[in-house]
Amino acid sequence: MAAELIDGKLLAREMKAELKEQVSKLIEQGVTPGLGVILVGDNPASKSYVTSKEKACERIGIFSDDVRLPEDVSEEELLQHVERMNNDTKIHGILVQLPLPKHIDENEIINAITPEKDVDGFHPVSVGKMVLGQETFLPCTPHGVLKLLERYDVQTEGAEVLVIGRSNIVGKPVANLLMRKDKPGNSTVTVCHTRTKDLLSHSKTADIIIVASGYPNTLTADMVKEDAVVIDVGINRIEDSSRERGYRLVGDADFDSLKDKVKKITPVPGGVGPMTITMLLFNTVKSAGTTIR
Ligand code: NAD
Repeated sequence: MAAELIDGKLLAREMKAELKEQVSKLIEQGVTPGLGVILVGDNPASKSYVTSKEKACERIGIFSDDVRLPEDVSEEELLQHVERMNNDTKIHGILVQLPLPKHIDENEIINAITPEKDVDGFHPVSVGKMVLGQETFLPCTPHGVLKLLERYDVQTEGAEVLVIGRSNIVGKPVANLLMRKDKPGNSTVTVCHTRTKDLLSHSKTADIIIVASGYPNTLTADMVKEDAVVIDVGINRIEDSSRERGYRLVGDADFDSLKDKVKKITPVPGGVGPMTITMLLFNTVKSAGTTIR
């Protein structure tokens, strides 16, 4: 039987409509939510993410303060821009697009963002609060995954969840969020990574599989049980001369084989991707809202 499609584009559209209303109300109260965006260098994927994020902000009435810096910018200059945004009352959220060039210490930059404006949820204070279950900005991609599970009635309580990948921005936080005593949450979580001896033994029994490996086809139909739910976080550019732009996007899971076997699955594009941007808007609006109270 064909899987139910977990439609991130649809949920993102619904959430953005709600956020737009919240932004209008904030503007009526004299606060225009503002997002400071810093992009370093010319990485095409980063450029395209930043452009999408800024367009999404504009559509719902968030103002963005856009800073583009050359690849060879010094760490000191980058820190000055972060500091300026930390002190700018018109800016409620700060986003430094990662990855940064090798000569810049990413941790230094993330740590320099004030936690009150850490709408990416990467600052150690935000991460610590998330792990402890305290109120904070949740990282956008894992938060988007949670929203999708909730909207599509995926039962997480007591579920065996397999997370493939242990990165700081996806694998670790999503695993943490799903084991919290919360809804969605209360799952029994297993995290697999490149040193895992037998991925198959874990994937075969998992009720929910979140794939964030960075490689296409990490998860295929023969690796899962029939009533599994697959959330594919991956975004990979595959050369495709039949497309005008010369490439197409695929996830980390083999959608074509999985869609005829599993219970529910996210497509790529149109699954987790649109939710990541939406949760960034969500955090920015939340941050602007707290300045009123
Ligand atoms: P990463 O490279 O930092 O981490 C990948 C993790 O997967 C590592 O921990 C590695 O140990 C593990 N891994 C790799 N191959 C594996 C395998 N065969 N078996 C088990 N574990 C394996 O990547 P990331 O930043 O976490 O991103 C993961 C994917 O998600 C990428 O495709 C990325 O493009 C995508 N991504 C999408 C969004 C979005 O908005 N949809 C946001 C962030 C990242």
